[in-house]
Amino acid sequence: MIEFPPVPPGEVIAVSATLYMTYTRCPDQALGRLRGLYPEESKAAFKGGLAHRVFARHLSSGSIDDVDFDRVCKEEIGAGLNPKLGALGLRPSQLGAIINEVGDLYQRFKALSAEGFRVAEVFVELEPAAGLKLRGSIDAVFDDPEGVRLVDWKTGGLYETEQQLRFYAMLWAMDTGELPAYVEAVSIGSGERVAETPTVAALSATAGEVADLVGVLRRAFLDGRQQIERIAGPWCRFCPQLDGCDEGSAAVRVADAG
Ligand code: SF4
Repeated sequence: MIEFPPVPPGEVIAVSATLYMTYTRCPDQALGRLRGLYPEESKAAFKGGLAHRVFARHLSSGSIDDVDFDRVCKEEIGAGLNPKLGALGLRPSQLGAIINEVGDLYQRFKALSAEGFRVAEVFVELEPAAGLKLRGSIDAVFDDPEGVRLVDWKTGGLYETEQQLRFYAMLWAMDTGELPAYVEAVSIGSGERVAETPTVAALSATAGEVADLVGVLRRAFLDGRQQIERIAGPWCRFCPQLDGCDEGSAAVRVADAG
């Protein structure tokens, strides 16, 4: 249904939704990620990761009682978040505050309808061309009367979600041969929703963008280029390359002055 375009041979590359979104903001930051330059761990990302594990546990195993919430969170941290916890170096009191915030999010999450829920945390990995992997983790899949609905939960606001949603829809369509009826992002914090009905044309366009990305990054590796196109914006503040980037430093200065 979705024909992935041909890509030039070259470096082994895994394209996740995160790499794709990073590239659409700043190609040079995406190149940096492939060279191992990742943003530092943050409390917000840790909180989001823990909340997602709690949401998936709720859908898979049932509601979590208030008296068990602290224990469940610690189990989920032990099962998959210990490296992030170690990188943050949180004190027990700080961890307690984060668990409380996740508890607030969980109360909001519980109020959402789970009707049609099929499965949570679906990891999809495809190899449409030699040495190229496309991968992503879909938070939840629901069966609606119109067809499958893919859901991405956000613990913060909804920013630039459309491209990310189309990336997940593209993965799903390429993996199953089925076009999702809906793909949706839901902010648990604010209740805001963004949803769309994917089309073959839109997902083919996403596949084209991903193929272009692979071509640019592979050519950069082949040519030994240290830098490709840089696009400065609000994301520069969290970029691990900020210190050595004039464009990003200028953008941060302007933002701070405003
Ligand atoms: S600081 Fe900004 S412009 Fe520079 S590489 Fe990072 S994201 Fe791109």
